[in-house]
Amino acid sequence: MAATTVLKPHQKELFGQPIGLYILFLTEMWERFSYYGMRALLVLYMTTSTLGDDARGAGLGWTSKEALALYGWYTMLVYVMSIPGGMIADKLIGQKKAVLFGAIILCIGHGVLVMTDIWAFYTGLGLVILGVGLLKPNISTMVGGLYKQGDIRRDKGFSIFYIGINLGSLLATMIVGGVVAKWGWHAGFGLAGIVMLLGLINYIAGQKYLTQVGNFVPSTNDENDVSYGKLYSRLFTSPKQLLYAGALLIASIVGWYFMDWGYGMLFLFLTAIAALLMMIYKELETQVYKDRFMVLLLSFIMVIIFWGAFEQAGGLMNLYTDTKTDRNLFGWFEIPTVMYQSLNAGFIILFATLVASIWAKRKLKGKEASSLFKMALGIIIMGFGFLFMVFAAMQFEKSGTSSMIWLVLAYFFHTIGELCISPVALSFITKLAPAKYASLMMGVYFAATGLGNKVAGIVGESASEFGELTIFSGIVIFTVIVGILFIMILKPLKRLTHGVEESERMMHSDETEGFELADN
Ligand code: GLN
Repeated sequence: MAATTVLKPHQKELFGQPIGLYILFLTEMWERFSYYGMRALLVLYMTTSTLGDDARGAGLGWTSKEALALYGWYTMLVYVMSIPGGMIADKLIGQKKAVLFGAIILCIGHGVLVMTDIWAFYTGLGLVILGVGLLKPNISTMVGGLYKQGDIRRDKGFSIFYIGINLGSLLATMIVGGVVAKWGWHAGFGLAGIVMLLGLINYIAGQKYLTQVGNFVPSTNDENDVSYGKLYSRLFTSPKQLLYAGALLIASIVGWYFMDWGYGMLFLFLTAIAALLMMIYKELETQVYKDRFMVLLLSFIMVIIFWGAFEQAGGLMNLYTDTKTDRNLFGWFEIPTVMYQSLNAGFIILFATLVASIWAKRKLKGKEASSLFKMALGIIIMGFGFLFMVFAAMQFEKSGTSSMIWLVLAYFFHTIGELCISPVALSFITKLAPAKYASLMMGVYFAATGLGNKVAGIVGESASEFGELTIFSGIVIFTVIVGILFIMILKPLKRLTHGVEESERMMHSDETEGFELADN
């Protein structure tokens, strides 16, 4: 009789993936429900009058300009805080505990938002920013940690994880509005807190499937374990780096002078991060590590550009849907504007596995399927989607209204583009980042998406000056050109990865015993 090996929980698989993936999937699904549910309410709550117009109750009575300004900063900060969130995981507690603390802080933050006082509003938002900063980058790095270097299932794992993200977002946008309409704003915030509690319970209960991943490994080798403080102090022994950092610092101060203090703080923070990244680059032990680090940072340029265009969804495209689109469905009923926001999440759920399988098949056939190629293609496909918004704007200029089909097509291509870049980038980071800076690099990635969000806001605002047709056409031209340029330099870029994706193959649970994140 053949000997059967008894698998430990963390080695068990479901549908060919480690069970830990589904634990992280569910935790992130509830976290995203709470995030997107609360985000959907935020601007509306701030702009509702303090007297309260209906069953939803009193709002904050802010102007829409004030509300949008806070919204822009808030949505950027949640992602920018992923950098300290990643640093804390790398240097102090490991990703697993960071996710746990993040989830607890999120439960408290959403709980505080149930209260009606203004201090509770700011405190709640602050806690949500801290909680997401701790949870979001680290749970993503943990997904990567479920796979050994070279395991071909990793990309698909991230696509499945991405479905969880969007399932949370879809459920939130469908449910939270109804709850608020019946029981008021603070019930909506409370619901976000309750679902986050579900996420926390699920995470704690699923720990036995995650024993091998996200643990803090204190370095035993003092030489290698360079603290961030030490890295900064080494800046002063490196004239070239000091010069770069000094130039950035001056640019930040000039920026501060011409813009407001918020931007000033942001520029200073980014200067500090840029200096740190320069020093990390310098400290990396081998040229392979250095090249991979560099290619990751270059790929983040694509990330900023992608989200800078894509995130028109919540702003300019949302307003366009509201005011310039014929939302009447065959004369039966008018589809509410907010429902168009669900198209993206819905398309992701429908197409994520299909897109992942297409790439996996290409890879097995030995055709081009590198992450960098997918990311560049993702920008082109998303940019192409804006062509339908150009058609919409042209139709509006001609007839005073535009068909909703343009929006559906635009969101469809945006989603396919997102599937080529977003889950792919998450996976790519876990393949390339040096293990001891894995969470930091994930944090920098999310900060790049946050900056993309801010860029989107700035581009969207300029539509009132230039008109939608110009903005949408400009986005098509710019993104398609950028995507093509990246494809043109694909070969040298891929060389910098030193074949990290070339040897990917199917691995089995018995090969995944006792590894920590990508040991490259
Ligand atoms: N929509 C995705 C999420 O919520 C991606 C967001 C991002 O990377 N900024 O995770």
